[in-house]
Amino acid sequence: MSRPTEVIIDLAAIRQNYRLASKLAQPGKAIAVVKANAYGHGIVEVAKALCDDTEMFAVASLDEAKMLRQQGIKQDILLLEGCFDRAEYAEVAALNCQTVIHNSEQLNAICTGSLPRAIVTWLKIDTGMHRLGIQPEQFWDFYQQLQGSAQVSDVRLISHFSCADELDNDFTQQQLAIVEEILQQPGAAVLQAKCSLANSAAMLAWPQSIRQWNRPGIMLYGISPFIQAHPLADKLQQAMTLRSKVIALRSINKGEMVGYANHWQATRPSMIATVAAGYGDGYPRHAKSGTPVLINNRRARLVGRVSMDMLCVDVSELDNVKLGDEVTLWGSGLAVAEVATWADTIPYELVTRMPTRAIKRYI
Ligand SMILES: *Cc1c(COP(=O)(O)O)cnc(C)c1O
Repeated sequence: MSRPTEVIIDLAAIRQNYRLASKLAQPGKAIAVVKANAYGHGIVEVAKALCDDTEMFAVASLDEAKMLRQQGIKQDILLLEGCFDRAEYAEVAALNCQTVIHNSEQLNAICTGSLPRAIVTWLKIDTGMHRLGIQPEQFWDFYQQLQGSAQVSDVRLISHFSCADELDNDFTQQQLAIVEEILQQPGAAVLQAKCSLANSAAMLAWPQSIRQWNRPGIMLYGISPFIQAHPLADKLQQAMTLRSKVIALRSINKGEMVGYANHWQATRPSMIATVAAGYGDGYPRHAKSGTPVLINNRRARLVGRVSMDMLCVDVSELDNVKLGDEVTLWGSGLAVAEVATWADTIPYELVTRMPTRAIKRYI
């Protein structure tokens, strides 16, 4: 038997989740966000799985866009952070991609460049997140310069929410009001149909933010952006499973310790199962003792520090645990979000940082 640790990616689940996003986006569209290697799920496989359904993908870099083009992806591709230097615009045009413009350097670079063809630009407004984007007051000046540029074939409006996952925080409403104010100015009617605001959380919880173009990311992978239960988000199907097997079993006495630094001590005689998965496989080292783990689909608890290649589970309350038994670190029956909470992080981080050692199998 080779090392039994694997990451299973359910492409049918991703397709299903995309369909839910598309439905929420109606009458607009859902841009499939596949940055960061499709949140660790494999950008090429995910894009191929979605290319019959989606008209557009979004990525964070030209390298990601190139990879999609090399694999024959013909859909529109949007660069969410825009270009990082002037030389990239010609490549964006040659690859037939679209780009965000979020500052005056990017505006100047595109307007003074000489591109093989005009490109679609998305003018990004900072409506309160204060991460990327021009100030709302600068909008018309930037808009007119882009409209007047021969390098630009169309100008659209994009903004991003900082708190859409907080269901009772009306900051999303305030951000929306800033966009609405721009759109109500004379001459802006045409922009109504060229707007993109919502990420997954906004699509699920703030339907008033849905526009012609929407940008679901995390929901495509079947992960809820919310901490609490949510009727729509709870319909998503988690696409990634991290699993392994039990490779050792031992009984220890009350008072004996488990793992590095003797971090966990048995308060009763205990049966400890050792599992071939650790932080070298993407399991978070910060997961605390008590984090749920499924052994043969039954819940048990992580004990002691997570090692690079292994972790230990207290299986005292499960009958008949044997060497070779199936272990689910996250997957069906155990949301990656639950594990993330035990590790003081968010599920986005856990799936996105899966290491290359974690061998992926697509179903
Ligand atoms: C990553 C990203 C998204 C997708 O966000 P999710 O929370 O994963 O849905 C949308 N828009 C922008 C600008 C992003 O950077």
